[in-house]
Amino acid sequence: MNHLQNLQKWVADSGYDVAYISNPTDIMYFTGFSSDPEERVLALFVFPEAEPFLFTPQLEVEAAKKAGWNHDVYGYLDHEDPFEIIASHIKERTQQTTKWAIEKADLPYQRYEAVKKEFPDAIFPGNASEFLDQLKLFKTPDEIELMKEAGKQADYAFQLGFDALSTSRTEQQVVAEIEYGLMKKGVMHTSFDTIVQSGVNAADPHGGPEKVNIQSNALTLFDLGTVNKGYMSDASRTVAFGEPTAKQKEIYDVCLQAQLAAMDAAKPGITAAQLDGVARKIITDAGYGEYFIHRLGHGIGTSTHEFPSIMEGNDMVLKPGMCFSIEPGIYIQGVAGVRIEDCIYLTENGNEPFTHTTKELQVLPIK
Ligand code: MN
Ligand code: MN
Repeated sequence: MNHLQNLQKWVADSGYDVAYISNPTDIMYFTGFSSDPEERVLALFVFPEAEPFLFTPQLEVEAAKKAGWNHDVYGYLDHEDPFEIIASHIKERTQQTTKWAIEKADLPYQRYEAVKKEFPDAIFPGNASEFLDQLKLFKTPDEIELMKEAGKQADYAFQLGFDALSTSRTEQQVVAEIEYGLMKKGVMHTSFDTIVQSGVNAADPHGGPEKVNIQSNALTLFDLGTVNKGYMSDASRTVAFGEPTAKQKEIYDVCLQAQLAAMDAAKPGITAAQLDGVARKIITDAGYGEYFIHRLGHGIGTSTHEFPSIMEGNDMVLKPGMCFSIEPGIYIQGVAGVRIEDCIYLTENGNEPFTHTTKELQVLPIK
């Protein structure tokens, strides 16, 4: 069953009359059509039996058809009322329009009101957001291939970043070199803002690259990812630029041991909480537990953060086809920040990483 068939089955089995998918990423997931509609309306409507349809701004209708969607596409012009047109197409398909499923985590209240105006009897028992969270847990072989390619792009981006390190460049300029290099290869989108943090800046795990020069004889942290046909990569490496201090080396080594142990333990049957515990125990036993201030990992796919969440308290049993990050970090203010991250997919017996850049501490020559 493909993604759309799964959605139709859920709508039918749950007894809903109409499902309204509003999130552009989720529309891409079901239709293959990728678009950022800005303030205009982009929507997918699915029914238990009738043909689904895609609704787009008029200027996107042809692009949606070319993307491979082989059901109806309807457009609207800027001066028209989109929900009036949507309502007419729904009523062409079915007279049963009471029970709706919507993406409750996504649909703006204003659009909910627009639906209510056209369908005053509508009630909204279905939450397609929750359904999608579960459906997206498992990637198909085709999706994994797309993510492998995104992983290769991330590996290339690391090489660009390592090559660009220089005491005469700022963190922001190293980011620029990475993204320019990616674009020259036709990789036009990163999956989030590229992070390059040098020296003590890396101790702020949610900070960004600053207008400060790369420091020598210190660690530099890279966290980056790309988008390949809607599927994301996300990976981190920390390298030394010149000789690091003994303390920095020690922190790196503890983080690496934790990452490798979790990579080894990630296989079907372990729970998300147990896997987090494998890495956390190593860091805690080494005395750095209080500096590992986030979960071990997060799911990844059409977005950089989805289920499963690899953290304490999550007793979800991990299964083949799940894709997630393993990214322990140690952040000590005024000393250094280290994070080592691969995203992986679970196979029948173990896992495969999407990224392959070496994790042995690289000591790059100062330039
Ligand atoms: Mn991540
Ligand atoms: Mn990351």
